[in-house]
Amino acid sequence: MLLRHTPQVITERKALTINPAKTCQPIGAMYASLGIKGCLPHSHGSQGCCAYHRSTLTRHYKEPISAATSSFTEGASVFGGQANLLQAINNIFTVYEPEAIAVHTTCLSETIGDDLPQIFNKAIKEKKVPPGKTLLGAPTPSYVGSHVTGFSNMVKAMAGLAENTGTRNGKINILPGWVEPSDMEEIKRIAALMGVKISIYPDTSGVLNTPLTGKYNMFPDGGTSIAEIRDSGNASGTLALGEWCSADGARLLDTQCKVPCSILDIPVGLKATDRFIDALRTVAGTSVPDEIATERGRLVDLISDMHQYFYGKKVALVGDPDQLISMTEFLVSIDMLPVHIITGTPGKKFEKRIQEITAELNCEVNVKAKGDMFLLHQWIKNEPVDLIIGNSYCKYIARDEDIPFVRWGFPILDRQGHQYFPSIGYMGGLRLLEKILNCLLDRKERDDTEEKFELVL
Ligand code: SF4
Repeated sequence: MLLRHTPQVITERKALTINPAKTCQPIGAMYASLGIKGCLPHSHGSQGCCAYHRSTLTRHYKEPISAATSSFTEGASVFGGQANLLQAINNIFTVYEPEAIAVHTTCLSETIGDDLPQIFNKAIKEKKVPPGKTLLGAPTPSYVGSHVTGFSNMVKAMAGLAENTGTRNGKINILPGWVEPSDMEEIKRIAALMGVKISIYPDTSGVLNTPLTGKYNMFPDGGTSIAEIRDSGNASGTLALGEWCSADGARLLDTQCKVPCSILDIPVGLKATDRFIDALRTVAGTSVPDEIATERGRLVDLISDMHQYFYGKKVALVGDPDQLISMTEFLVSIDMLPVHIITGTPGKKFEKRIQEITAELNCEVNVKAKGDMFLLHQWIKNEPVDLIIGNSYCKYIARDEDIPFVRWGFPILDRQGHQYFPSIGYMGGLRLLEKILNCLLDRKERDDTEEKFELVL
């Protein structure tokens, strides 16, 4: 029956969420941990939580996700999980030999009140952490925030490892936010083109988009090494991409290691990419090379060539705050009308930012943080749209309402490509527009009368 019984009449709900537009904190923490070289993520809670986190990431990235768990049973639930975690740390370093273990908590261990720093100190005192190996941890109670909060908390834990040795390393830190492995690769490509030396973390490229070699490697070659993360305290500056995912880590680098930071939007779309390139140029004192100017020109060319098909099209968006802010700005810049915008992550700041971006539009815009997809569906029933952009869960609304749908964001469980092709930067903008355009034109041609069915568009 899909969602066809969603009522059009909207009644106020205070305590009930239906079809949430978010998932749980540890999934974000686990994704961030996978961007550390040789790191095994560890879920401090029950096996069921860990299985859910791993399977969600596996379904999105189509890669096996290695992670350990404290395997809470009734005893740990009553007396606390310290003994389980100490045992786990010992077993993991002995059996799997990772460079680091990144522990995140779960609802259960947070409710019990397990104190990760205290348990880590005990593990070190009891010599369960071999010399040169690292333990880091982030609190990720899922009854607050979302997967985005969990990601941010783990990035902050990474930044907490940074040390200022008094000698600058001549690099710029980039905290890329929750973007795809392909996007992290794209950031590195852009920085290299501009001649800027960067440290980027987390970096899941080479971890979650690896080639099939026939050989299983528990710790793929990608990821940012612990040594590089520690050295990020010696950088000349930090560019944090996305307020929700990266700002806390960047601010910690600033207060702890005196590395000044700028908080930018994720470079999705023309304007946000312009600001990112300009920030890179400014902090590194370089100029923008011709290759990047050419890529920008191609994006502008596509926008102007195909503007008639974008113009005035109404769009409903679901996703995470950092991505939605840049995507909304991108759509507004090409004269599309993002009229319904939902994120499951709480934060009134998000609603305010979207209202600012859409202020000039000549139409009403619905925006909600801590919203759900049931409400989005109701908005669409009251004000239909030409396109939905969001994660795979939108397919039910798209099918019920017969609306074209572009998959974008997290999770994408039923299509491929997001790991391999970037959607950030000018090249990513081209890919996004191609997907949007193809989707709109496929629908137009499906519905065109014979007289309007043209060979050349
Ligand atoms: S219990 Fe909490 S941490 Fe575990 S899967 Fe559920 S929401 Fe996530």
